Amino acid sequence: MLDALTERLSGTFRRLGSSGRIGEKELDEALREVRIALLEADVNFKVVRDFIARVRERALGQEVLQSITPGQQVIGIVQQVLVETLGKEHAPLERARGGPTKIMVVGSKGSGKTTLAGRLALKFKSEGLRPLLVSTDFERVAASEQLQVLAESIDVPVYVEEREAPAAEVAKRALAHAAKINANAIIVDTVGAVALDDELADALAALADEVDPTELLIVVDAMTGQEAVTLAKEFHDVLEGSGIVVTKVDSDTRGGAVLSVREVTGLPVKFITTGERLEALEEFHPDRFASRVLGMGDVVTLVERAKQAIGERDAKDVARRMRTGQFDLEDFLGQMEQLKKMGPLSGILDMLPGAGAMKAQLGAIDMNEKFISQSEAIIRSMTIEERRHPDVINGSRRRRIARGSGTHPSDVNRLLNQFGEARKLMKAMAGGGKNAGGIRRMLGL
Ligand code: GDP
Ligand code: MG
Repeated sequence: MLDALTERLSGTFRRLGSSGRIGEKELDEALREVRIALLEADVNFKVVRDFIARVRERALGQEVLQSITPGQQVIGIVQQVLVETLGKEHAPLERARGGPTKIMVVGSKGSGKTTLAGRLALKFKSEGLRPLLVSTDFERVAASEQLQVLAESIDVPVYVEEREAPAAEVAKRALAHAAKINANAIIVDTVGAVALDDELADALAALADEVDPTELLIVVDAMTGQEAVTLAKEFHDVLEGSGIVVTKVDSDTRGGAVLSVREVTGLPVKFITTGERLEALEEFHPDRFASRVLGMGDVVTLVERAKQAIGERDAKDVARRMRTGQFDLEDFLGQMEQLKKMGPLSGILDMLPGAGAMKAQLGAIDMNEKFISQSEAIIRSMTIEERRHPDVINGSRRRRIARGSGTHPSDVNRLLNQFGEARKLMKAMAGGGKNAGGIRRMLGL
């Protein structure tokens, strides 16, 4: 996530952290680097200006420069101000009191509205609610079809109409249908805008009047940067949104949109999404996000995700085995499958403190389907002893294992190397490192 920004900021922080004395001149130099990093990440220039001014004022005001660890203090202030810029506190999704919760999703074309609608439906369903997806988008031929396919894939009912009609009228009938089938979480997908012209603004305003949504979520595509933020502001001015969802916060997005949108619109970011998987809907916590951007990791979210994917008991068991050095190739195979459930490995690494360096080191770990099934075959061809103590695998054993699994000795080697790398990562998580204690506590070890 936002790899380039994180890299730049961690560089500045390393230099700051190691400098013994910081005068006003050194502070300004560091802040210049932060400013450039933010501008390069496409953060709104006014937001950057305020940000730098706030950090500077606080650093000078609190006499941190005279303290014993001025660099650390300045880093702490940057983190504080970043959290404030992102909205300070987590803003949870509102639920209706009495009556169904109604969510209306608006935003630009291709920003991820329909996908978000599906993601929210899946979330509600997993909470035990009875969602209904509603399409009001007639512009693209395949729009309602896309929502139908999505709905079917998560086994959620969907309301679509064949013949084009004003969105507000469709919504009226959809709400009646929702009441009939006893749905209690209604998600209304809308047509996308390129620009918010009067006609679209009127149609969406009429739709919002009809739906009377509990939440009107404005979708901001992180890949389009400031343009998306400006459009979000226009949407908010016309429709009075209640929250923002930033989509496509993938590793190569610059990040300007996430960092600017709160200050520019005044609306809280409620979720971010980081990939194409429907499960990749993440509650937005300003403090956790700031830590990730600053390369300090987000252990809380990581552990939450691990617990979700692995199940709490398994997580504890695996963690215990990692800690006691019993983690073997059978566990490795299980882990690969569970990692797959947690999403792309790069996203997981973002949440580990000091992930930048680790990412380079672990870039070679390849968790694709083919590798996993091949690995399974290889591990099945090993004896119990070999699985428990891979060190005994010499040249002739390697050839035998390759023959047994229909692979090449170099494939066996590759697997063993990856296992070695994974074991290093496990050790870093469970053993050393200043956050490892936190991980262990959270896993209840
Ligand atoms: P809509 O036009 O606003 O309804 O956008 P869609 O939901 O149809 O999404 C447009 C494209 O963006 C699709 O290919 C989605 O799979 C993709 N997409 C949606 N959310 C994300 C995300 O968080 N990350 C990435 N990389 N792609 C996404
Ligand atoms: Mg759509």
